[in-house]
Amino acid sequence: MTHSKLHIPGPVEVSEKTFRAMTTPMVGHRSADFQELYGRIQPSLQSLFQTKQLVFLSTSSAWGVMEGAIRNCVQKKVLNCMCGAFSDKWLDVSRRCGKEAEGLEVAWGSPVLPEMIDKKLETGEFDALTLVHNETSTGVLNPLSDIASLKEKYPEIMFIVDTVSSFSVVDIPFDQLGIDVLLTGSQKALAMPPGLALFTVSPAALERAATTPDRGYYFDFVEFQKNAEKNMTPSTPSISHIYALESKLEDIFSEGMEARFERHATLSERVRHWATEQGFTLFPDAGYESRALTCINNGAKAGGRTIDVPTLQKRVKEAGVTIDGGYGKIKGKTFRLSNMGDETQESIDTLLGILDDSLKGL
Ligand SMILES: *Cc1c(COP(=O)(O)O)cnc(C)c1O
Repeated sequence: MTHSKLHIPGPVEVSEKTFRAMTTPMVGHRSADFQELYGRIQPSLQSLFQTKQLVFLSTSSAWGVMEGAIRNCVQKKVLNCMCGAFSDKWLDVSRRCGKEAEGLEVAWGSPVLPEMIDKKLETGEFDALTLVHNETSTGVLNPLSDIASLKEKYPEIMFIVDTVSSFSVVDIPFDQLGIDVLLTGSQKALAMPPGLALFTVSPAALERAATTPDRGYYFDFVEFQKNAEKNMTPSTPSISHIYALESKLEDIFSEGMEARFERHATLSERVRHWATEQGFTLFPDAGYESRALTCINNGAKAGGRTIDVPTLQKRVKEAGVTIDGGYGKIKGKTFRLSNMGDETQESIDTLLGILDDSLKGL
């Protein structure tokens, strides 16, 4: 089978170097070798999360920790900020965990704004909120630092933030923001295979967890903390992923975090520019466009060009690239191009060249 290069917003393309790291021979997860491995990468993880807290590694997809955060941090009622497929689902997941939950919903394509959240929190009903920083389904980047500044007014409310498709794309200084849970997954911006989630929690979140009943075992934050203090995980982790992570951390710090943010800014700008040059409009409200992916409108209704998205996908695939044809209720009405992970000026130019050819006569 010939490989079709992934430009979908997750999983994204994984480098040879990362795959090679995964073939490192196995060690026991309770061995000194494993502790040495986790201990060796912990300082880099803390630099990446910009925190003094320990960074936890969960062998699950991001949803594991998203659900876990609800089970650990919600005692009274959670406010789920909803602006797309992933953030909408978090309301459903909260209720499935047996929690009181309410949605704060904005139209897909729009951001969740701090004043909307403030109004809800003022009711005094909530002890936690969830926010998806970069809503991957709509390509909207929510104003995290403005939202996080509400934490000062509501110190008792747990701020749980999903950064699955923004982590290492834009600056997210966990300690400085003062939020309580920050989580991400391996297969999006970190460009590793799916299967690992990374997260960190505030001391307040650990305290909350310790008094929250029925938080289970697998995602118990207190267990993660206790084990991480010994450079271990509560259960057997995907050690191969941790080797891949070590390799990825090398990549990130040899490029430099600032340079990495800059690269994503430049590449996403390039894709947005291409889209408008081609006669399309962008799905997100102006000023809130993601730097990890571009969600492009299809159709005159949106004030732009109309194409047949499945035909575009098919043509692009024949040229060796996979793109996304829109997610959930905006499938076919949008298409998405990812510039997450290891993409370069050159690789994005190649993608845009293929798209130019594929759009001819469409
Ligand atoms: C992909 C994604 C998820 C879900 O990740 P899984 O790895 O499938 O659990 C959650 N949130 C956002 C913003 C995502 O992009």
